[in-house]
Amino acid sequence: MVQYNEGFTPPRPMVDADSLPFWQVMQETKQLHFQRCAECKELMHPPRPVCHKCHSFNMEWVPSIGKGKIYSYVVYHRPVHPAFKVPYEVVLVELDEGVRIVSNMIDCEPDEIYIGMPVEVVIDQVFEDLALPKFKRQNT
Ligand code: ZN
Repeated sequence: MVQYNEGFTPPRPMVDADSLPFWQVMQETKQLHFQRCAECKELMHPPRPVCHKCHSFNMEWVPSIGKGKIYSYVVYHRPVHPAFKVPYEVVLVELDEGVRIVSNMIDCEPDEIYIGMPVEVVIDQVFEDLALPKFKRQNT
C-alpha cells in the first residue's frame, strides 16, 4: 500500500487541458469517471481530445463501475520521490468496463498483490483540491 512520509507533500498528477475534466469530475462527485466518445460510445483512458476509434471530438464523462482486477503491478524498493514510504506498489487495474488505470493499493502489502486480484476503487482526497483514485481488495 502506498503511504506518505511525514513532512513531504506527495507529487501531484500533471493536469493538462485533456485531463482537467477527469480530475474536476472526481473532485466534484467523489466518484471515478471515464471519458467516453459521445458518438461511438468507446471508453478511453487517459483522457484525450479525439476518439481513437471514430475520430470524433465529442466526448462525455460517465461513472465507472469501480470494480476490476489487477492486470499488472510493480513494487518499488527505492522511492522515486521522498514522500513515498518503501516498499510500495504501482498497480495497473483493468476495470470491468475494459478501461485500464495506473494507481496504488490502500489496504495490502506488495507481497499480497497478485495478477487477477479483484479490486474496487476508493477515492482518496490526498490534496484539498484534488482527489486520487486508489484501490482496495474487493469485498466479495
Ligand atoms: Zn468514437
